[in-house]
Amino acid sequence: NERILLVNRPKGTPEKSDFRFEATAIPELENDQVLVKTIYLSVDPYMRGRMNDTKSYVPPFELNEVISGGVVGQVIQSRSSELAEGDFVIGNLGWQKYNAVSDASVRKLDPSIAPLTTNLGVLGMTGLTAYFGLLDIGNPQEGETVVVSGAAGAVGTIVGQIAKIKGTRVVGIAGSDEKISYLKDGLGFDEAINYKTDDVYKALKNACPDGVDVYFDNVGGEISDHVLRQINKGARIAICGQIALYNLEKMDVGPRIQSQLLINSALMKGFIVSDYAAHFEEGAVQLAKWLKEGKLSYSENIVEGFENTVDAFLGLFSGENTGKQLVKVAEP
Ligand code: NDP
Repeated sequence: NERILLVNRPKGTPEKSDFRFEATAIPELENDQVLVKTIYLSVDPYMRGRMNDTKSYVPPFELNEVISGGVVGQVIQSRSSELAEGDFVIGNLGWQKYNAVSDASVRKLDPSIAPLTTNLGVLGMTGLTAYFGLLDIGNPQEGETVVVSGAAGAVGTIVGQIAKIKGTRVVGIAGSDEKISYLKDGLGFDEAINYKTDDVYKALKNACPDGVDVYFDNVGGEISDHVLRQINKGARIAICGQIALYNLEKMDVGPRIQSQLLINSALMKGFIVSDYAAHFEEGAVQLAKWLKEGKLSYSENIVEGFENTVDAFLGLFSGENTGKQLVKVAEP
């Protein structure tokens, strides 16, 4: 077996030396356990938060322990009456090539319904985050203007497309010209802004002549300051992520925007996708339906090889990915 441990709590942007690869024996199974071979593993920005020793909605990773996250794998040995060799499963499992886990800790997947990878992306955690955050908090109405930051990522690409399905004007903010073209030409966004080269405030003014009714925030920081200065009366702001802040060593102090919320009677609400766990089934069914109808498309950035897992994770912070970042560890 091979696995990846967190060996230092990163200071600022994580570095390769914060992680260590380790070879270990493949564990023996106990009753009701299965041995799962990792096929795809997911790297996600929220994992950065778990690398700090601070209180959050999920406990921190332990130092010198294997890192865990979303994994799609295949059962290759079973001492379970529920799962058989060959079954595909998903779970929150270790960043390792083989996990021995209780059958209750994974969920069986039907690979005939959709490609395996979609369970970690558009039909999984990131798709559901887009779906519930936008529809429940953003509540976009036909003809309104929706702005999404981190627009070309796993969550952002789905947010923008759902907002189009709901009949809104959609403006995305992302970090490269390739991403801007993809959002406009590939996904049908009305406008897209490159925050690395454009004057974000001015570009938003042009792209949102009627102001901003819904802001889906994946990044925080200065980008969000520019958006929040342009909200309309009754605007809704869903705080999904703050990736621009995750690697800061000192808390950032920006403009105080509460008066913007006040004078516009606006709502700003944070959420964690698991707040909606009771409704996941319904969200996944709707997303699958849109996919099948061709109303929704998705992209994936798949890095090959377990040894590239850490690089794939680090790449999230330099914007290497368009759509969902995954690592392919083995063939089924
Ligand atoms: P993405 O696929 O969007 O990957 C991260 C992207 O963020 C990068 O590609 C990069 O794109 C952008 N980025 C990186 N650093 C910065 C920065 N300093 N400023 C602006 N943009 C930056 O990840 P996800 O779609 O998985 O996640 C998006 C956000 O949603 C994250 O903040 C994440 O933590 C959050 N999230 C929250 C959940 C919840 O339950 N609330 C669940 C899942 C995700 P670019 O080239 O455009 O810079």
